[in-house]
Amino acid sequence: MKVLDLQCPGGHRFEGWFASADDFESQLSRKLVECPICGATEVSRLPSAPRLNLSGAAQPPAQQGAPDMNELQARVMRALREVLDKTENVGDRFAEEARRIHYNEAPARNIRGVTTAEDARALVEEGIDVMPLPIPAALKEPLQ
Ligand SMILES: [Zn+2]
Repeated sequence: MKVLDLQCPGGHRFEGWFASADDFESQLSRKLVECPICGATEVSRLPSAPRLNLSGAAQPPAQQGAPDMNELQARVMRALREVLDKTENVGDRFAEEARRIHYNEAPARNIRGVTTAEDARALVEEGIDVMPLPIPAALKEPLQ
């Protein structure tokens, strides 16, 4: 078992556990190596010496003390992805679409999109629920 230090284009560093360096290359070419934070598959290997895991355990040893920030971040990203799965992306038509839904001119559904702070304030004043959501760039969909 080999532990490799890996990095995605987003700069997230993580460890990958592989049977061998060849196994890593093979999984990488099939896009099976995924950044646990943002899901990117263009992963590169950092030039640190791989450690040999002699115990044969499948999991890295639990860390003592402070909570694992990567794990926390991964959890937040999963929650955000769920929100993204359950909302319709209306892009920069967000304010317009939120109003149409509010005034029953469009089918009621959960939407997300981009709007200016000014528009968001106007929506709130009209009694329309908006929630600012910091979507990391890695999860943003390309605009059509
Ligand atoms: Zn990443």
